[in-house]
Amino acid sequence: MREKGEKNKRKSFLFPIIALFSICLCAVTALLAVGGDDTVYYLRQLNFVPDEKVICIDPGHGGTSSGATGEGGSRLEKDDNLRLSLLVRDILTERGYTVVMTRDGDSDVSLEERCKIANKARASLFVSIHRNSSTGNGKGMEMWVHSTRPTDDLLLAENLLACLESVGFSANRGIHSGYRDGADLNYYINRNTKMPSCLAEIGFITSAEDNKDFDEKLEKYAEALAEGIEATLREMNGE
Ligand SMILES: [Zn+2]
Repeated sequence: MREKGEKNKRKSFLFPIIALFSICLCAVTALLAVGGDDTVYYLRQLNFVPDEKVICIDPGHGGTSSGATGEGGSRLEKDDNLRLSLLVRDILTERGYTVVMTRDGDSDVSLEERCKIANKARASLFVSIHRNSSTGNGKGMEMWVHSTRPTDDLLLAENLLACLESVGFSANRGIHSGYRDGADLNYYINRNTKMPSCLAEIGFITSAEDNKDFDEKLEKYAEALAEGIEATLREMNGE
């Protein structure tokens, strides 16, 4: 009898714990399923402590991934992205930041690896540098942030665009959220980095006007990006 009583006692003690655990598990599963991108986006930032002196610069594409092409196929996006990114790195390094590059040569780096590099380094901001392309007459610069339009990500995009505009470009195409094929989708890097991030399209590689600007104003664009990053950090710190 005594033994049975203890057993029942243990059962009645375990039941609420199992029930609570099951409810929690269901809730998290439901949240992930229903919330989709948004929930994953917010969950991923839990317990992330960034190092405010570390910035991650991500030159888009590289290696076998050329990205977009221009000038009859002789101009590759991956090369333009790297040229500009290396200049941004040098400027920020001179200003006392630790700049983590997802690549600093012509190498293949997966999107997953790029995010891992930034997250592991605890970068405080992530800027992915790209060039746009169009089969028509597309020109100008635009920024892409996560579909949930997080405050600091938007701030970063606004500052980058404003600083670039002060140098001058063909058209301000504004700040977009999500992904070009769907507002609910996201660029991989915006979804999987734990810090505020932004994908910057620095003009169209298919536009002669934008390529001329890119080549002639390259250093000024690099300074503008560095300035936009610094301004964002200042504002995030309430300065
Ligand atoms: Zn690209």
